[in-house]
Amino acid sequence: MLSVTFLGTSAARPTVERNVSAMALVREGETLLFECGEGTQRQMMRYGVSFALSEIFFTHFHADHFLGVIGLIRTLGLQTRAEPMRLYGPKGAKKLLNQALQLGVERVPFEVEVQEVKPGDVITGGNRAPRTAYDIHAFATDHGGGSVGYALREHERPGRFDPDKARAAGVPEGPLWGKLQRGEAVELPDGRNVVPEGIVSEKRRGRIVVFTGDTRPCAAVVDAAQGADLLIHEATFGEEEKERAKETGHSTAREAAQVALAAKARRLVLSHVSARYSISADELVKEAREVFKETVVAKDGMTIEVPFAD
Ligand SMILES: [Zn+2]
Ligand SMILES: [Zn+2]
Repeated sequence: MLSVTFLGTSAARPTVERNVSAMALVREGETLLFECGEGTQRQMMRYGVSFALSEIFFTHFHADHFLGVIGLIRTLGLQTRAEPMRLYGPKGAKKLLNQALQLGVERVPFEVEVQEVKPGDVITGGNRAPRTAYDIHAFATDHGGGSVGYALREHERPGRFDPDKARAAGVPEGPLWGKLQRGEAVELPDGRNVVPEGIVSEKRRGRIVVFTGDTRPCAAVVDAAQGADLLIHEATFGEEEKERAKETGHSTAREAAQVALAAKARRLVLSHVSARYSISADELVKEAREVFKETVVAKDGMTIEVPFAD
């Protein structure tokens, strides 16, 4: 199971329909939070996202992306949380987040560790919560001053096991099948050796989910999103405001679609939309689909499942 739930999809400020940026990614029961705009904790309650999370990833420190962490950490403290929390963000994260965490509360009753990341970093989760089945990669974005995006990349999975071929090779059903499935050669009771090749297919790649945060369309995002199962790209503006997008370090829906196309992504979700598209973002979807058909626009509370490609 891998899914993302959009908690806030509005650029710069909340509207009646949309809150500011935050997205929960749930994988095999584990919840990761990307961005934490003001009011995120209430959106989590509203849309059933677990508070039992231990990592929050920030792309940059414009107010609409992080102010919610102050209230969220306070609420977690009131719930007598004991587990530590890790916050990740680009250069400046330590100073800024540590200041934010001291606002309005005497002491956070659990450990909060801030880790600064830079493009190219693979965020392992450290000793406490080592990741075994996937990694989070930080990549450069173009939003003026050290912003990053994040890509979740699952490790390769074993190839597909063909029971008929195993039987034909004389391998009895049982533990030996499991060994073959894991890519190991097995020795049969009659002494013959059987290798997995021909019985188990090539390893299959894991899923890739890419979250850009605020950015101009750029090559670094295209690289990070190569073959992504899901690309979540900001699309603050429509075509008629493409100059404004350029001036403010944002993307149009069409530009986001061009990135998805260049990256050969499977699906594109547009988010972080300007207040003028708060009620209807159909125009953004229409413009993007002219370039990249598999496009939808996020709205608050929307959950998208990410299935395996094979
Ligand atoms: Zn923003
Ligand atoms: Zn921004």
